[in-house]
Amino acid sequence: MNASVLQLAGVSKRFAAPGGAVEALKDVALELAAGEFVAITGPSGSGKSTLLHIAALLEPPTSGEVWLEGENVAQLSERALAARRAEKIGMVFQKFCLLPHRSVLANVLFRFRYASRARGAARASAVAALEMVGLRDRLQHKARLLSGGEMQRVALARAIALPPRLLAADEPTGNLDRAAAEGVMDCLRELNRRGTTILLVTHNEALLRHCSRHLRLVDGRIGS
Ligand code: ADP
Ligand code: MG
Repeated sequence: MNASVLQLAGVSKRFAAPGGAVEALKDVALELAAGEFVAITGPSGSGKSTLLHIAALLEPPTSGEVWLEGENVAQLSERALAARRAEKIGMVFQKFCLLPHRSVLANVLFRFRYASRARGAARASAVAALEMVGLRDRLQHKARLLSGGEMQRVALARAIALPPRLLAADEPTGNLDRAAAEGVMDCLRELNRRGTTILLVTHNEALLRHCSRHLRLVDGRIGS
């Protein structure tokens, strides 16, 4: 088996909420080996986005451990955590999280904010990523003026402009028609072929054939 890129052990996540605490994840165990392309499906509210945020080191679990390439991330300082995210992880947010008043190119360049890359190299990588998602002709458009599908593709370009070890993609085809969704899957497969391990949340059963493994999340627990 290939080396482990991500390991979640006994991961639970509880959110405090006015109506009582929500157990979004319950004792989740998950290991991603290098080169895997794993799909997660599950009903709305089953904890998929929460799982991706924890996998992308954006928030800590309430209990359990998260290991990234052999490092227990609980032992990292905030600064080291930010560095690991910048160097190793790409995240495509379900709600895109673009800077609405900035250009498409500026949004993708944001990926390099905490990563040390020469400016020219960063720009070339950003443009190449936008080309890959079919938005080479939109570099100077303001993000807020794009269609939902275009915003989604900018979010993907931002995540892959610096090829990550792990890509966590939260329904990255949710706003796309069938042809555009297949285009995004082609991008993900190419990225995977070049060595990125992928954790993909999707509602689209037709896309599962592109993945090497499929897990189902139900009420915060992983089935199969
Ligand atoms: P999914 O992505 O599968 O639709 P989520 O991971 O977004 O599910 O949410 C799982 C559960 O946790 C839901 O019941 C949701 O309402 C709750 N939840 C998610 N984030 C928060 C939060 N920040 N505060 C309180 N509850 C939350
Ligand atoms: Mg979600």
